[in-house]
Amino acid sequence: MSTRSYQQFIGGRFVDGSGSGSIERRSPATGDLVARYCDGTPEDVDLAVEAARIAFEEGPWPRMSGMERAEVLNRLADLMRTNRDRLVRIEVEEVGKPVRFARGDIDGAAGLTRYAASLAMQMAGLTYTNIGEGKTALISREAVGVVALVTPWNFPALILSQKVPFALAAGCTVVLKPSEFTSGSAFEIAALAAEAGVPAGAFNVVSGYGATVGDHLTGHAGIDFVSFTGSTRTGSRVVGNTSRHLVKSSVELGGKSANIVFADADLEAAADGALMGVFFNNGECCVSGSRLFVQSSIADDFIAKVVARSRKMKVGDPFDDDTDVGALIDHNHLAKVTGFVRSGIEEGAQLVLGGNVATGTVGHFHEATIFDRVEPHMTIFREEIFGPVLSITRFDTVDDAVRLANDTAYGLSNYIWSKNIDTVLTVAKRLKSGWVQANTIIDGAPQLPLTGVKGSGFGYEMGQAGFEEFTQLKTLLIQTGPRAPVFPV
Ligand code: NDP
Repeated sequence: MSTRSYQQFIGGRFVDGSGSGSIERRSPATGDLVARYCDGTPEDVDLAVEAARIAFEEGPWPRMSGMERAEVLNRLADLMRTNRDRLVRIEVEEVGKPVRFARGDIDGAAGLTRYAASLAMQMAGLTYTNIGEGKTALISREAVGVVALVTPWNFPALILSQKVPFALAAGCTVVLKPSEFTSGSAFEIAALAAEAGVPAGAFNVVSGYGATVGDHLTGHAGIDFVSFTGSTRTGSRVVGNTSRHLVKSSVELGGKSANIVFADADLEAAADGALMGVFFNNGECCVSGSRLFVQSSIADDFIAKVVARSRKMKVGDPFDDDTDVGALIDHNHLAKVTGFVRSGIEEGAQLVLGGNVATGTVGHFHEATIFDRVEPHMTIFREEIFGPVLSITRFDTVDDAVRLANDTAYGLSNYIWSKNIDTVLTVAKRLKSGWVQANTIIDGAPQLPLTGVKGSGFGYEMGQAGFEEFTQLKTLLIQTGPRAPVFPV
């Protein structure tokens, strides 16, 4: 296996970073060195912001028609599909996620790009002719300008694609800082974007650490909008950075979602949903259904079913098509997950499956783990674990389920399993989260916006609303014909 090395991508080409350091990425599954990225500096960020500013003020991208931008973005989507195998390999090697989920990520990324292309052609405003004699108002929607994008490590290509093509579709120019762990696909996609026809300077990528590159970028005076996805702690720091220059931001942060199973649900589907909710993407997923709430009348049988299925979960080589849970992102994160498991045991939750680091491998693997009898005061009920660890709590009534689900600092997503439409609609209305799904889980489509409330952040990603984040309105009021004087003539 050869190690991939990336320079910075600034002004439409790969260039040396201004610093001398590099970041080495080792596969979390094997320990092999798989990639090397520049340890970026504030100077690299300044150069990228300047390139994006010139591209926005003078370059062709914002001046192209929506149709022309759509054609370029559709070519990018085609190139992502043509290069699917390479992108999948990079995601598996750098993230440690199972290959079948990585394939879904790249297909999803291409789909998001294609949807964003369609929005480029629909960017439209509003006209008022009913606001007084001789008056016409044109409300136009314009690109917000130069945007800074910061992405996390769990879905590098997918979350990039929830932002970059939407920003480009609006006519913005972009500086992206990917996670220090998983920067490879960002550089690959930037190069594909250039091949597709995105002009020089419209899409720049600067690798580096959050504390240097991320901090400098999100507090940069040359940026017009920041879209961040990551932890709640870093997100609030980013909002502090943007507030220094009164720059608009959108922050998609952590979650601690409830997956509520009512007694009248399709229990086979709900059991699969319970596994999907916590083991998909190694549990490293912001919309994980990591708190499973089961109605008491079916709890013993249902939990037995979930445990029996989870016992069959294959943890190991992420390149194996049969693998369900791959390697966690790094040894620090593995230690964090084992710390949460320890706290669950010490605080009195009942460990019914797993609980250990997976042995016999050099990588950062953790067994599929399930706790029953988890109570709201316990750490594993409250904290985002971001690993393959499920917490189960039993409930009696609809009111109990809603109270328990909302008893969290987060508000990203929640899930309901019931065949009763009244239950689905009334519970969905009462759940405090930006996203609710019923009788399905971690599902979606590019048209559907994602947003958080409470500690899960604010702003929209995907859908028409996600596109509009990268735009702003300008109101032009025109008086035609005579204007009545206001002051004595
Ligand atoms: P972090 O917040 O640690 O990092 C996210 C990104 O921010 C990384 O690129 C990181 O760089 C960068 N960063 C770190 N410090 C700063 C800073 N001071 N200023 C600007 N940028 C900075 O999150 P993780 O990468 O650990 O991702 C996991 C988190 O992301 C979880 O909490 C998860 O819930 C959340 N998430 C939310 C999603 C959503 O849509 N709501 C989707 C996916 C994940 P570096 O890697 O170099 O530290």
